[in-house]
Amino acid sequence: MRGPLTASAIALALIVIYVVRIALFPLKDCWCCKGQGVHRSESNPKHSRRCWWCKNTGKRWRIGRRIWNRMRQKHRAAD
Ligand SMILES: [Zn+2]
Repeated sequence: MRGPLTASAIALALIVIYVVRIALFPLKDCWCCKGQGVHRSESNPKHSRRCWWCKNTGKRWRIGRRIWNRMRQKHRAAD
């Protein structure tokens, strides 16, 4: 009868791992430009345009970290 307990323990462990990961590595490469910050044309390498998705930084906040930031902002506003 260890099934449900083990499942919840695994779920908890995954949540802890995820929280640690977003705490240590809050940024990830932009999926849109693959971390380049610009989109390059295959046929003409000189032709590039800014990535609007990451605003030229090539990095994106992880979803979990964005929620975290928002919660912190709310917390600060309440003070
Ligand atoms: Zn991008």
